[in-house]
Amino acid sequence: MGAESDHFDLVVIGAGSGGLAAAKRAASHGARVAVVEGDRVGGTCVIRGCVPKKLLVYGSAYRHLLADAASYGWSVGESRCDPGRLLAAVRAEVDRLNGLHIGFLERAGVELVTGWGRFLDAHHVEVSRRDGSRRVLHGARVLIAAGGRPHRPAIPGAELGWVSDDMFLLEDLPQRVLIVGGGFIACEFACILHGLGVVVDQFVRGDHLLRGFDMELSDVVREGMEAAGINLHFAQTLTAISGQPGDLIATTSDGLQEPCGGVLLATGRKPFLAGLELAAAGVHIAAERIPVDGDQRTNVPHIFAVGDITDRINLTPVAVDEGRAFADSLYGGRPRQVDHDLVASAVFSQPELATVGLSEEQALARYGPDGVRLYRARFRSMAQALPQSGPRCLLKLVVEVASGRVLGCHMVGEHAAEIIQMAAIAIGMGATKADFDRTMALHPTVSEEFVTMPE
Ligand code: NDP
Repeated sequence: MGAESDHFDLVVIGAGSGGLAAAKRAASHGARVAVVEGDRVGGTCVIRGCVPKKLLVYGSAYRHLLADAASYGWSVGESRCDPGRLLAAVRAEVDRLNGLHIGFLERAGVELVTGWGRFLDAHHVEVSRRDGSRRVLHGARVLIAAGGRPHRPAIPGAELGWVSDDMFLLEDLPQRVLIVGGGFIACEFACILHGLGVVVDQFVRGDHLLRGFDMELSDVVREGMEAAGINLHFAQTLTAISGQPGDLIATTSDGLQEPCGGVLLATGRKPFLAGLELAAAGVHIAAERIPVDGDQRTNVPHIFAVGDITDRINLTPVAVDEGRAFADSLYGGRPRQVDHDLVASAVFSQPELATVGLSEEQALARYGPDGVRLYRARFRSMAQALPQSGPRCLLKLVVEVASGRVLGCHMVGEHAAEIIQMAAIAIGMGATKADFDRTMALHPTVSEEFVTMPE
């Protein structure tokens, strides 16, 4: 089936973080590789996730900087953000990066096949192009890296709400937005929108934000968000949305009718399995994801999967590492498995949260109350000394009593992600509290508190 030119050593489905990394690395080892992509090259991270989100975080943070400027002697005058201009500038940057990634593929010698892919059998992927034409690719191996998609809750009118993808396409922002969810995306967008001047009400069905993170840290994020003026509603959700785009009425679980200009449904993401026709290839699905072994292999020996479609740790660097490990193992003669332990992560809320290792709750469950010692520093950073306002920082170490090993290193505060990235090296090397204490402080910084916590 298919011409010689349609035969590849590797067909990758999905040009997101995992697929791109695997395709380029396999090509660098000499493999003939095709990448199939129906949407824009770059995937969630580059096109509608991490990258444009972080740019919006930077843009929205100016609100706090401008508010504090007077205490440092600046006369700023009246300032106003034009969200439309910011959103357009972010889109232009995404276009630039999209072009760069297409160029990277060309330079790596990877063939980009534009269109949606579906399995015809275990070796053949049919690609449907927008113009209705089709091409069938034969892959000696196939890598599924189709990523995830936002999940809408099953409430009446859910189609009137935005999901995170939609936020990057907006031309302007309304005066008031309601957000459903208490996870990464909900908290990040609550802070972005608030920073850009939108009135934000966030509905969280549980009793705290950011389930799964150290609870003390999520409480500090909550405190900071509430102090900034974000309206958090716990043990509440939305049960229906009605009206017209831009002029909506949301019904809350308390029976209130809330008018707003938009509703963001940030209620989780799911693997993007639709349309792949995995059954034709005999690839098993379990719990709405593709299970793989430590070598990224599905139940079909020559078909592999990486990234969000496997629903393990849904973070860009993890998908990239999985893709590279797959390519190095299969094409580079350097077999290796990805270490999914001790993966650092950050929530770019304002205040920012970053973490590596075990939370207090996880450590207590594993080692018991006598097996764990906690160290904390809670303070207002020097940057906030003159404004005398703004969120307080929390730095926290979770230490195993028996060995002195630092099991978890957590922070809420300015530059938390940058600081925890470095701390993750030490934690990965098995650093003890004594190692932290032995490290000379760099003064005056926020992170010096990690090496000066009294015994
Ligand atoms: P999360 O799983 O983090 O959060 C989903 C939130 O929605 C939870 O608060 C959940 O509540 C709530 N929820 C789920 N279903 C419903 C419902 N039917 N009604 C009301 N609330 C509901 O998902 P996100 O969408 O925020 O993010 C998805 C993933 O994307 C993250 O887990 C992360 O892997 C990745 N991501 C990473 C970022 C980063 O690294 N900075 C940024 C953004 C995303 P409950 O807790 O009760 O289940």
